[in-house]
Amino acid sequence: MKAIIIGSGLGGLLSAAKLSKAGYQVEIFERLPIIGGRFTNIQYQGFQLSTGALHMIPHGPAGPLSQLLKEIGADVEIVRKKPVSVIRIPRTRKDTDYKYGHKDIVFEDFKVPFTLLNRLKLIYYVISTRKNPPTGQSFEEWCIKHIPQDWTYRISDSFFGWALSLKGADVPVEEAFEIIENLYHFGGPGVPMGGCKGVTDALVNVINANGGTIHTSSEVAGLKLDNDKVTAVIVDGEEHTADIIISDIGHPATANLIGTQTNVSGMKEYILKSKDLKPSAGIKICLSSDKPLIGHGGVLLTPYAKRVNGINEVTNVDPSLAPAGKHLTMAHQCVHWNDLDNLDREIELGIEDLKDIFSGKEYEVLLIQSYSNDWPVNRSPSGADLKNRTPMSNLFVVGDGAKGKGGIEVEGIALGVKNCMQNILI
Ligand code: FAD
Repeated sequence: MKAIIIGSGLGGLLSAAKLSKAGYQVEIFERLPIIGGRFTNIQYQGFQLSTGALHMIPHGPAGPLSQLLKEIGADVEIVRKKPVSVIRIPRTRKDTDYKYGHKDIVFEDFKVPFTLLNRLKLIYYVISTRKNPPTGQSFEEWCIKHIPQDWTYRISDSFFGWALSLKGADVPVEEAFEIIENLYHFGGPGVPMGGCKGVTDALVNVINANGGTIHTSSEVAGLKLDNDKVTAVIVDGEEHTADIIISDIGHPATANLIGTQTNVSGMKEYILKSKDLKPSAGIKICLSSDKPLIGHGGVLLTPYAKRVNGINEVTNVDPSLAPAGKHLTMAHQCVHWNDLDNLDREIELGIEDLKDIFSGKEYEVLLIQSYSNDWPVNRSPSGADLKNRTPMSNLFVVGDGAKGKGGIEVEGIALGVKNCMQNILI
Protein backbone atom coordinates (compact mmCIF):
# COMPACT_ATOMS: atom_id res chain seq x y z
CA MET A 1 0.00 0.00 0.00
CA LYS A 2 1.19 3.48 -0.78
CA ALA A 3 0.45 6.71 1.12
CA ILE A 4 1.19 10.22 -0.05
CA ILE A 5 1.45 12.94 2.56
CA ILE A 6 0.90 16.59 1.61
CA GLY A 7 3.07 18.78 3.85
CA SER A 8 5.96 17.92 6.18
CA GLY A 9 4.71 19.63 9.34
CA LEU A 10 4.54 17.68 12.58
CA GLY A 11 1.17 16.13 11.66
CA GLY A 12 2.49 14.98 8.28
CA LEU A 13 5.72 13.58 9.69
CA LEU A 14 3.97 11.73 12.54
CA SER A 15 1.56 10.17 10.05
CA ALA A 16 4.32 9.25 7.62
CA ALA A 17 6.46 7.71 10.37
CA LYS A 18 3.53 5.71 11.74
CA LEU A 19 2.45 4.46 8.30
CA SER A 20 6.00 3.64 7.18
CA LYS A 21 6.47 1.65 10.39
CA ALA A 22 3.28 -0.26 9.58
CA GLY A 23 4.73 -1.26 6.19
CA TYR A 24 3.28 1.45 3.94
CA GLN A 25 5.40 2.94 1.20
CA VAL A 26 5.29 6.67 2.04
CA GLU A 27 6.12 9.74 0.01
CA ILE A 28 5.90 13.29 1.39
CA PHE A 29 5.59 16.41 -0.76
CA GLU A 30 6.56 19.68 0.95
CA ARG A 31 6.26 23.03 -0.83
CA LEU A 32 9.06 24.73 1.19
CA PRO A 33 12.77 23.99 0.89
CA ILE A 34 12.78 22.97 4.60
CA ILE A 35 11.11 20.12 6.49
CA GLY A 36 9.05 20.58 9.66
CA GLY A 37 6.57 23.38 8.88
CA ARG A 38 5.90 25.40 12.04
CA PHE A 39 7.84 22.94 14.19
CA THR A 40 11.47 23.31 13.25
CA ASN A 41 14.42 25.58 14.02
CA ILE A 42 15.82 28.50 12.12
CA GLN A 43 19.38 29.57 12.84
CA TYR A 44 19.54 33.27 13.66
CA GLN A 45 22.70 34.93 14.99
CA GLY A 46 23.75 31.60 16.49
CA PHE A 47 20.38 31.07 18.23
CA GLN A 48 18.02 28.22 17.39
CA LEU A 49 14.83 30.22 16.90
CA SER A 50 11.79 28.47 15.49
CA THR A 51 9.45 28.65 12.54
CA GLY A 52 6.49 28.58 14.97
CA ALA A 53 6.38 26.78 18.31
CA LEU A 54 8.19 27.92 21.43
CA HIS A 55 10.31 24.74 21.71
CA MET A 56 7.81 23.38 24.23
CA ILE A 57 5.67 20.24 24.40
CA PRO A 58 2.55 20.99 26.46
CA HIS A 59 2.48 17.75 28.51
CA GLY A 60 6.21 17.07 28.42
CA PRO A 61 7.51 13.50 28.64
CA ALA A 62 4.14 12.04 29.73
CA GLY A 63 1.73 13.42 27.14
CA PRO A 64 0.15 12.00 23.97
CA LEU A 65 2.91 13.32 21.68
CA SER A 66 5.66 11.76 23.76
CA GLN A 67 3.74 8.47 23.83
CA LEU A 68 3.26 8.50 20.05
CA LEU A 69 6.94 9.32 19.45
CA LYS A 70 7.93 6.33 21.60
CA GLU A 71 5.44 4.06 19.79
CA ILE A 72 6.88 5.12 16.43
CA GLY A 73 10.48 4.67 17.65
CA ALA A 74 11.48 8.33 17.30
CA ASP A 75 14.42 9.10 19.53
CA VAL A 76 13.50 12.35 21.32
CA GLU A 77 14.39 13.38 24.84
CA ILE A 78 11.75 15.64 26.39
CA VAL A 79 12.87 17.23 29.65
CA ARG A 80 10.45 18.57 32.25
CA LYS A 81 12.20 20.61 34.92
CA LYS A 82 10.67 22.05 38.05
CA PRO A 83 9.16 24.58 38.44
CA VAL A 84 7.04 23.59 35.46
CA SER A 85 4.89 26.74 35.53
CA VAL A 86 5.10 29.92 37.54
CA ILE A 87 2.68 32.86 37.70
CA ARG A 88 3.95 36.42 38.01
CA ILE A 89 1.68 38.64 40.09
CA PRO A 90 2.16 42.28 41.18
CA ARG A 91 4.02 42.89 44.43
CA THR A 92 0.98 44.20 46.28
CA ARG A 93 -2.72 43.35 45.91
CA LYS A 94 -3.65 46.93 45.00
CA ASP A 95 -1.36 46.98 41.91
CA THR A 96 -2.78 45.98 38.54
CA ASP A 97 0.49 45.74 36.61
CA TYR A 98 4.18 44.97 37.16
CA LYS A 99 5.41 48.58 37.23
CA TYR A 100 5.96 48.60 41.00
CA GLY A 101 7.50 45.16 41.30
CA HIS A 102 6.25 41.58 41.30
CA LYS A 103 6.36 38.23 43.04
CA ASP A 104 6.23 34.77 41.48
CA ILE A 105 3.99 31.95 42.71
CA VAL A 106 4.06 28.33 41.51
CA PHE A 107 1.16 27.34 39.22
CA GLU A 108 -0.32 25.01 41.86
CA ASP A 109 -0.93 28.14 44.00
CA PHE A 110 -3.11 29.78 41.30
CA LYS A 111 -5.98 29.66 43.81
CA VAL A 112 -4.23 31.91 46.34
CA PRO A 113 -5.33 35.24 44.78
CA PHE A 114 -9.03 34.15 44.90
CA THR A 115 -11.27 35.37 47.72
CA LEU A 116 -12.02 32.76 50.39
CA LEU A 117 -15.56 32.32 49.03
CA ASN A 118 -14.29 31.75 45.49
CA ARG A 119 -11.68 29.28 46.73
CA LEU A 120 -14.45 27.26 48.38
CA LYS A 121 -16.52 27.48 45.19
CA LEU A 122 -13.50 26.31 43.20
CA ILE A 123 -13.16 23.17 45.33
CA TYR A 124 -16.86 22.48 44.83
CA TYR A 125 -16.64 22.96 41.03
CA VAL A 126 -13.46 20.86 40.72
CA ILE A 127 -15.41 17.93 42.21
CA SER A 128 -18.88 18.50 40.71
CA THR A 129 -17.86 19.35 37.12
CA ARG A 130 -15.93 16.08 36.78
CA LYS A 131 -19.25 14.22 36.79
CA ASN A 132 -21.24 16.90 34.99
CA PRO A 133 -18.98 18.91 32.71
CA PRO A 134 -20.62 22.17 31.62
CA THR A 135 -21.48 22.70 27.95
CA GLY A 136 -22.81 25.19 25.44
CA GLN A 137 -20.96 28.37 26.42
CA SER A 138 -17.49 29.87 26.43
CA PHE A 139 -15.12 29.31 29.35
CA GLU A 140 -15.35 33.03 30.17
CA GLU A 141 -19.16 32.96 30.25
CA TRP A 142 -18.99 30.02 32.64
CA CYS A 143 -16.49 31.87 34.86
CA ILE A 144 -18.63 35.04 34.93
CA LYS A 145 -21.56 32.97 36.19
CA HIS A 146 -19.65 30.86 38.69
CA ILE A 147 -16.41 32.48 39.90
CA PRO A 148 -16.70 36.18 39.03
CA GLN A 149 -13.45 37.87 40.04
CA ASP A 150 -10.87 39.90 38.09
CA TRP A 151 -8.28 37.18 38.85
CA THR A 152 -10.42 34.51 37.13
CA TYR A 153 -10.40 36.35 33.81
CA ARG A 154 -6.75 37.31 34.07
CA ILE A 155 -5.47 33.80 34.77
CA SER A 156 -7.81 32.27 32.19
CA ASP A 157 -6.71 34.71 29.43
CA SER A 158 -3.06 34.26 30.35
CA PHE A 159 -3.24 30.45 30.39
CA PHE A 160 -5.35 30.04 27.24
CA GLY A 161 -3.45 32.85 25.50
CA TRP A 162 -0.21 30.96 26.12
CA ALA A 163 -1.55 27.46 25.52
CA LEU A 164 -3.98 28.04 22.61
CA SER A 165 -3.43 31.65 21.53
CA LEU A 166 -7.08 32.32 22.39
CA LYS A 167 -8.89 34.37 24.99
CA GLY A 168 -11.06 32.60 27.56
CA ALA A 169 -14.08 34.11 25.74
CA ASP A 170 -13.14 32.14 22.59
CA VAL A 171 -12.59 28.73 24.19
CA PRO A 172 -15.68 26.49 24.41
CA VAL A 173 -16.16 25.48 28.05
CA GLU A 174 -16.18 21.74 27.11
CA GLU A 175 -12.73 22.06 25.54
CA ALA A 176 -11.43 24.13 28.48
CA PHE A 177 -12.49 21.47 31.00
CA GLU A 178 -11.03 18.67 28.87
CA ILE A 179 -7.73 20.59 28.71
CA ILE A 180 -7.69 21.17 32.48
CA GLU A 181 -8.39 17.46 33.05
CA ASN A 182 -5.49 16.54 30.71
CA LEU A 183 -3.24 18.94 32.56
CA TYR A 184 -3.89 17.09 35.82
CA HIS A 185 -3.59 13.72 34.09
CA PHE A 186 -0.44 14.23 31.98
CA GLY A 187 1.24 17.12 33.81
CA GLY A 188 2.82 20.33 32.52
CA PRO A 189 5.21 21.14 29.70
CA GLY A 190 8.71 20.00 28.80
CA VAL A 191 11.38 21.04 26.34
CA PRO A 192 12.53 18.65 23.60
CA MET A 193 16.33 18.53 23.45
CA GLY A 194 17.38 20.26 20.23
CA GLY A 195 14.12 22.26 20.29
CA CYS A 196 11.37 21.66 17.74
CA LYS A 197 13.91 20.36 15.21
CA GLY A 198 14.94 17.66 17.70
CA VAL A 199 11.44 16.20 17.25
CA THR A 200 11.03 16.64 13.49
CA ASP A 201 14.58 15.36 12.77
CA ALA A 202 13.88 12.21 14.81
CA LEU A 203 10.72 11.59 12.75
CA VAL A 204 12.61 12.14 9.49
CA ASN A 205 15.13 9.50 10.66
CA VAL A 206 12.31 6.99 11.24
CA ILE A 207 10.77 7.73 7.82
CA ASN A 208 14.14 7.39 6.07
CA ALA A 209 14.96 4.18 7.94
CA ASN A 210 11.63 2.71 6.79
CA GLY A 211 12.34 3.57 3.14
CA GLY A 212 10.08 6.65 2.91
CA THR A 213 10.86 9.62 0.65
CA ILE A 214 10.54 13.34 1.40
CA HIS A 215 10.52 15.80 -1.52
CA THR A 216 11.08 19.44 -0.55
CA SER A 217 10.28 22.45 -2.78
CA SER A 218 7.46 20.31 -4.20
CA GLU A 219 4.04 21.92 -3.92
CA VAL A 220 0.95 19.80 -4.42
CA ALA A 221 -1.05 21.92 -6.86
CA GLY A 222 -4.04 19.65 -7.38
CA LEU A 223 -5.66 16.28 -6.84
CA LYS A 224 -6.88 13.75 -9.37
CA LEU A 225 -10.27 12.29 -8.41
CA ASP A 226 -12.26 9.23 -9.37
CA ASN A 227 -15.76 9.13 -7.83
CA ASP A 228 -15.21 9.39 -4.04
CA LYS A 229 -11.48 8.59 -4.23
CA VAL A 230 -8.34 10.66 -4.75
CA THR A 231 -6.16 8.67 -7.13
CA ALA A 232 -3.16 10.98 -7.43
CA VAL A 233 -1.61 14.28 -6.34
CA ILE A 234 -0.28 16.68 -8.95
CA VAL A 235 3.19 18.16 -8.41
CA ASP A 236 4.95 20.21 -11.11
CA GLY A 237 2.39 18.93 -13.61
CA GLU A 238 3.17 15.27 -12.83
CA GLU A 239 0.70 12.80 -11.32
CA HIS A 240 1.80 10.70 -8.34
CA THR A 241 -0.60 7.90 -7.49
CA ALA A 242 -1.36 6.45 -4.04
CA ASP A 243 -3.94 4.36 -2.17
CA ILE A 244 -4.23 6.85 0.68
CA ILE A 245 -3.65 10.59 0.82
CA ILE A 246 -2.99 12.41 4.08
CA SER A 247 -3.17 16.18 4.04
CA ASP A 248 -1.27 18.19 6.65
CA ILE A 249 -2.28 21.56 5.22
CA GLY A 250 -5.59 22.02 7.05
CA HIS A 251 -9.18 21.53 5.93
CA PRO A 252 -9.67 24.81 4.00
CA ALA A 253 -6.54 24.32 1.82
CA THR A 254 -7.45 20.64 1.35
CA ALA A 255 -10.96 21.66 0.25
CA ASN A 256 -9.36 24.14 -2.17
CA LEU A 257 -7.28 21.36 -3.71
CA ILE A 258 -10.44 19.34 -4.32
CA GLY A 259 -12.04 22.47 -5.73
CA THR A 260 -15.30 22.12 -7.56
CA GLN A 261 -14.28 18.91 -9.33
CA THR A 262 -16.79 16.71 -7.54
CA ASN A 263 -20.22 16.76 -5.99
CA VAL A 264 -19.78 13.63 -3.83
CA SER A 265 -22.08 13.47 -0.86
CA GLY A 266 -21.17 15.90 1.94
CA MET A 267 -18.79 18.00 -0.18
CA LYS A 268 -20.80 21.25 -0.04
CA GLU A 269 -21.12 21.06 3.78
CA TYR A 270 -17.42 20.20 4.06
CA ILE A 271 -16.39 23.26 2.05
CA LEU A 272 -18.71 25.52 4.08
CA LYS A 273 -17.49 24.15 7.43
CA SER A 274 -13.84 24.51 6.34
CA LYS A 275 -14.39 28.13 5.37
CA ASP A 276 -15.84 28.84 8.83
CA LEU A 277 -12.62 27.92 10.65
CA LYS A 278 -10.80 30.96 12.01
CA PRO A 279 -7.06 30.31 12.55
CA SER A 280 -5.74 31.57 15.89
CA ALA A 281 -3.10 34.29 15.63
CA GLY A 282 -0.18 35.36 17.80
CA ILE A 283 3.08 37.24 18.19
CA LYS A 284 6.36 35.79 19.43
CA ILE A 285 9.14 38.06 20.70
CA CYS A 286 12.57 36.40 21.02
CA LEU A 287 15.06 37.89 23.47
CA SER A 288 18.76 37.34 24.00
CA SER A 289 20.48 37.97 27.34
CA ASP A 290 23.78 37.18 29.05
CA LYS A 291 22.12 36.41 32.37
CA PRO A 292 18.88 34.42 32.72
CA LEU A 293 15.75 36.59 32.69
CA ILE A 294 13.50 33.88 34.15
CA GLY A 295 15.98 31.40 35.60
CA HIS A 296 13.95 28.20 35.18
CA GLY A 297 12.91 25.87 32.39
CA GLY A 298 9.15 26.17 32.81
CA VAL A 299 6.55 28.70 31.69
CA LEU A 300 6.18 32.10 33.30
CA LEU A 301 2.53 33.15 32.98
CA THR A 302 2.01 36.92 33.06
CA PRO A 303 -1.69 37.60 33.78
CA TYR A 304 -1.06 41.27 34.66
CA ALA A 305 0.65 42.17 31.38
CA LYS A 306 -1.28 44.16 28.77
CA ARG A 307 -0.62 41.66 25.97
CA VAL A 308 2.10 39.09 26.77
CA ASN A 309 0.45 35.89 28.03
CA GLY A 310 3.52 33.92 28.98
CA ILE A 311 7.27 33.54 28.54
CA ASN A 312 9.79 30.71 28.56
CA GLU A 313 13.57 30.47 28.69
CA VAL A 314 14.42 27.18 27.07
CA THR A 315 18.18 27.56 27.47
CA ASN A 316 17.72 26.67 31.16
CA VAL A 317 16.95 23.16 29.85
CA ASP A 318 18.92 22.99 26.60
CA PRO A 319 21.78 25.52 26.49
CA SER A 320 22.60 24.47 22.90
CA LEU A 321 19.62 26.55 21.70
CA ALA A 322 21.74 29.69 22.13
CA PRO A 323 25.42 30.56 21.62
CA ALA A 324 27.65 29.72 24.61
CA GLY A 325 26.99 32.05 27.55
CA LYS A 326 23.71 33.40 26.14
CA HIS A 327 20.07 32.76 27.00
CA LEU A 328 17.08 32.49 24.66
CA THR A 329 13.80 33.79 26.10
CA MET A 330 10.55 33.78 24.10
CA ALA A 331 7.37 35.71 24.91
CA HIS A 332 4.04 34.77 23.38
CA GLN A 333 0.91 36.90 23.04
CA CYS A 334 -2.39 35.96 21.53
CA VAL A 335 -3.70 38.35 18.86
CA HIS A 336 -7.46 38.57 18.84
CA TRP A 337 -9.04 38.46 15.37
CA ASN A 338 -10.26 42.08 15.86
CA ASP A 339 -6.66 43.24 16.28
CA LEU A 340 -5.20 41.59 13.20
CA ASP A 341 -5.12 44.92 11.34
CA ASN A 342 -3.16 46.56 14.18
CA LEU A 343 -0.18 44.23 14.46
CA ASP A 344 2.33 47.10 14.90
CA ARG A 345 0.38 48.40 17.91
CA GLU A 346 0.08 44.87 19.36
CA ILE A 347 3.86 44.43 19.03
CA GLU A 348 4.49 47.80 20.73
CA LEU A 349 2.27 46.75 23.66
CA GLY A 350 4.13 43.44 23.91
CA ILE A 351 7.50 45.23 24.01
CA GLU A 352 6.18 47.60 26.71
CA ASP A 353 5.06 44.58 28.74
CA LEU A 354 8.52 43.04 28.55
CA LYS A 355 10.09 46.27 29.86
CA ASP A 356 7.85 46.06 32.96
CA ILE A 357 8.18 42.31 33.41
CA PHE A 358 11.99 42.40 33.14
CA SER A 359 12.44 45.82 34.68
CA GLY A 360 16.11 46.40 35.60
CA LYS A 361 17.33 43.42 33.54
CA GLU A 362 19.43 43.64 30.40
CA TYR A 363 18.34 41.96 27.20
CA GLU A 364 18.21 42.49 23.46
CA VAL A 365 15.21 41.88 21.20
CA LEU A 366 16.45 39.32 18.67
CA LEU A 367 13.43 38.81 16.44
CA ILE A 368 9.69 39.50 16.43
CA GLN A 369 7.50 37.06 14.48
CA SER A 370 3.76 37.36 13.86
CA TYR A 371 1.52 34.44 12.92
CA SER A 372 -1.89 34.53 11.27
CA ASN A 373 -3.93 33.34 8.28
CA ASP A 374 -1.88 30.81 6.31
CA TRP A 375 0.92 30.50 8.90
CA PRO A 376 -1.07 30.77 12.14
CA VAL A 377 -0.59 29.54 15.69
CA ASN A 378 -3.39 27.02 15.10
CA ARG A 379 -5.28 26.38 11.87
CA SER A 380 -8.49 26.08 13.80
CA PRO A 381 -9.21 27.44 17.26
CA SER A 382 -9.12 24.62 19.81
CA GLY A 383 -12.51 23.07 20.28
CA ALA A 384 -13.57 23.91 16.70
CA ASP A 385 -11.37 21.36 14.92
CA LEU A 386 -12.97 19.29 12.21
CA LYS A 387 -12.18 15.59 12.45
CA ASN A 388 -9.73 13.72 10.20
CA ARG A 389 -12.14 12.46 7.56
CA THR A 390 -13.14 14.32 4.38
CA PRO A 391 -15.95 13.44 1.94
CA MET A 392 -13.31 11.66 -0.19
CA SER A 393 -13.04 8.14 1.24
CA ASN A 394 -9.22 7.86 1.08
CA LEU A 395 -8.31 11.50 1.85
CA PHE A 396 -7.61 12.35 5.51
CA VAL A 397 -6.55 15.58 7.22
CA VAL A 398 -4.10 15.74 10.15
CA GLY A 399 -2.28 18.57 11.92
CA ASP A 400 -3.57 21.49 13.92
CA GLY A 401 -6.79 21.86 11.94
CA ALA A 402 -7.75 18.33 12.97
CA LYS A 403 -6.63 18.05 16.59
CA GLY A 404 -8.00 15.51 19.02
CA LYS A 405 -10.31 16.73 21.79
CA GLY A 406 -8.67 18.40 24.78
CA GLY A 407 -5.23 18.32 23.16
CA ILE A 408 -3.21 21.49 23.56
CA GLU A 409 -1.31 22.34 20.36
CA VAL A 410 1.04 19.49 19.36
CA GLU A 411 -0.58 17.17 21.91
CA GLY A 412 -3.80 17.73 19.96
CA ILE A 413 -1.95 16.96 16.72
CA ALA A 414 -0.70 13.67 18.20
CA LEU A 415 -4.24 12.77 19.35
CA GLY A 416 -5.58 13.66 15.88
CA VAL A 417 -2.96 11.49 14.16
CA LYS A 418 -3.81 8.58 16.50
CA ASN A 419 -7.51 8.97 15.64
CA CYS A 420 -6.70 9.17 11.94
CA MET A 421 -4.56 6.02 12.07
CA GLN A 422 -7.46 4.16 13.68
CA ASN A 423 -9.38 4.82 10.45
CA ILE A 424 -6.54 3.59 8.25
CA LEU A 425 -4.65 0.87 10.13
CA ILE A 426 -7.60 -1.32 11.02
P1 FAD B 1 2.44 22.89 9.57
O1 FAD B 1 3.60 22.93 10.48
O2 FAD B 1 1.91 24.18 9.09
O3 FAD B 1 2.84 21.97 8.33
C1 FAD B 1 2.19 22.02 7.12
C2 FAD B 1 3.23 21.95 6.00
O4 FAD B 1 2.55 21.82 4.74
C3 FAD B 1 4.09 23.20 5.91
O5 FAD B 1 5.44 22.84 5.96
C4 FAD B 1 3.70 23.81 4.55
O6 FAD B 1 4.80 24.45 3.93
C5 FAD B 1 3.25 22.58 3.78
N1 FAD B 1 2.33 22.85 2.68
C6 FAD B 1 1.29 23.72 2.65
N2 FAD B 1 0.65 23.63 1.47
C7 FAD B 1 1.28 22.69 0.74
C8 FAD B 1 1.07 22.13 -0.55
N3 FAD B 1 0.06 22.53 -1.34
N4 FAD B 1 1.92 21.17 -0.99
C9 FAD B 1 2.94 20.73 -0.19
N5 FAD B 1 3.18 21.23 1.03
C10 FAD B 1 2.35 22.19 1.50
N6 FAD B 1 2.75 24.09 19.77
C11 FAD B 1 3.24 23.50 20.88
O7 FAD B 1 2.91 22.34 21.13
N7 FAD B 1 4.07 24.11 21.74
C12 FAD B 1 4.41 25.41 21.57
O8 FAD B 1 5.22 25.94 22.33
C13 FAD B 1 3.84 26.12 20.49
N8 FAD B 1 4.06 27.41 20.33
C14 FAD B 1 3.65 28.04 19.21
C15 FAD B 1 4.00 29.36 19.03
C16 FAD B 1 3.71 29.98 17.83
C17 FAD B 1 4.07 31.43 17.66
C18 FAD B 1 3.10 29.25 16.78
C19 FAD B 1 2.89 29.87 15.45
C20 FAD B 1 2.70 27.95 16.97
C21 FAD B 1 2.97 27.33 18.20
N9 FAD B 1 2.61 26.02 18.44
C22 FAD B 1 3.04 25.39 19.56
C23 FAD B 1 1.75 25.28 17.49
C24 FAD B 1 2.57 24.34 16.60
O9 FAD B 1 3.71 24.99 16.13
C25 FAD B 1 1.70 23.92 15.43
O10 FAD B 1 0.46 23.46 15.90
C26 FAD B 1 2.32 22.79 14.61
O11 FAD B 1 3.66 23.04 14.33
C27 FAD B 1 1.50 22.65 13.32
O12 FAD B 1 1.90 21.50 12.62
P2 FAD B 1 1.06 21.00 11.36
O13 FAD B 1 1.65 19.73 10.94
O14 FAD B 1 -0.38 21.03 11.66
O15 FAD B 1 1.21 22.13 10.23
